[in-house]
Amino acid sequence: MKSFPDSIQAGIEFSSELFRKAKRAVVLTGAGISTPSGIPDFRSEGSGLWSRDEPLEVASLLTFRTHPENSYEWFRPLARQIFEATPNAAHRALAELEKAGYIHSVLTQNIDLLHQKAGTMHVVELHGTLRTLSCTQCFQQVDSMPYLKPFIEQGRLPHCPHCGSLLKPDVILFGEQLPQKTWLEAQRESRTCDLMLVAGSSLEVMPVAGLPMQALDRGAHLVIINNSPTYLNVRADVAIQANVSDIIPAIAEQVLYG
Ligand SMILES: [Zn+2]
Repeated sequence: MKSFPDSIQAGIEFSSELFRKAKRAVVLTGAGISTPSGIPDFRSEGSGLWSRDEPLEVASLLTFRTHPENSYEWFRPLARQIFEATPNAAHRALAELEKAGYIHSVLTQNIDLLHQKAGTMHVVELHGTLRTLSCTQCFQQVDSMPYLKPFIEQGRLPHCPHCGSLLKPDVILFGEQLPQKTWLEAQRESRTCDLMLVAGSSLEVMPVAGLPMQALDRGAHLVIINNSPTYLNVRADVAIQANVSDIIPAIAEQVLYG
């Protein structure tokens, strides 16, 4: 077992206790939970993808509509990393906690499918998913798997099997609204939980960053684990500034076997 500084160890123990007592715990995850799996946080400055291009521009709905090949070209290395990535200890620990009945749902800002690959059943994908593509003309939705490989390896753009028009990944681009059904579900999860764990999110991207506030307003406990402080650390029951792939497995071990 890893050993931690006293203050972090105390945070792990208190968080475990909150999980044990919670009747409905909800987890909100961001890019920080996937960086240990090799997926860059393309929204944060200094990451490889940001320095090459301006994602706010190439990954925007406007660019996709006017120059979809530019968006796809920018997306290609990220798609490869996502396709090849495997879940890390934090994803696996959350899946175990869910299986044991300690977690009701995982809300994620990530599009990388790593929670699902780890075995988590109830995932709310706030920024959409790479699992499916939708036709830009006839809106038919298709499974992305048969299209991903030819795209990643040969750069072949995916076209609709029904009408031949370009397909768009069902991920939310900059400038695009969150899907209403998903957003309502995320709000409901946040308002009905009695414990929220924020893991690997700096809580900077609205409107998702407002979800923990909705939980707090209804009296839920809040645990935040992230490499950098967030605007809600002052209001959290526990705030641990460290790597989620170290801390979440330690919490899970304490909850399950402690
Ligand atoms: Zn079509």
